[in-house]
Amino acid sequence: MSLNMEQGVNANENHHFPLPDSVTHSIRRVDYSRLLNLGRELLVALGEDPEREGLRETPRRWADAWKEFIEYNPGNTETCFNTISSGQIVCVSGIRVASYCEHHLMPFWCTVAIGYIPEKKVLGLSKFARIAHQLAHRLQIQEQLGLQIAQEVSRITETPHVAVVLSGEHSCMTMRGINTPGVMTSSVMSGLFQDSGEKRLEFLKLIDR
Ligand SMILES: [Zn+2]
Repeated sequence: MSLNMEQGVNANENHHFPLPDSVTHSIRRVDYSRLLNLGRELLVALGEDPEREGLRETPRRWADAWKEFIEYNPGNTETCFNTISSGQIVCVSGIRVASYCEHHLMPFWCTVAIGYIPEKKVLGLSKFARIAHQLAHRLQIQEQLGLQIAQEVSRITETPHVAVVLSGEHSCMTMRGINTPGVMTSSVMSGLFQDSGEKRLEFLKLIDR
């Protein structure tokens, strides 16, 4: 599906992103034994003794955490119902996801709002959260996460009118570098949300409540 999506980062800069053909859906598997070794190596590299009491089980716990994160199964995300087009905006907000920044391998947390205008199909409400979680469970950057969520909602519901707003808190910002808490907001607007200021405003009002 070819969509013209416009993405705003930090609310006022606009960028055009090349659209990847589709989102990868297969669940990846981790190399668990490699993770175990790496966990141990990491402790050594940090100047720790992997044999000391508190750390003995740490490589295993660390490997388990990565396995759980990467091998996350969102369940069925594609249950749709038929609809008669009414031009109404359907909006789901307050979805909270956790992901890992691919630049620093440090976690970030996003609050996600998704809106769309159904044309043929409506998506069950719980599926929005599943889609957001599915795409957050991989190494990500916030802008790409928003874009992939928009593409996936568009693909499944077969409508070009999709809006996604993410507010993210990044530990690579709060724990290193400038060491300051901050919220980064990014948005993806496609179809009518991109073309019509009225629809965009209506969506932004809906998620502001
Ligand atoms: Zn980062």
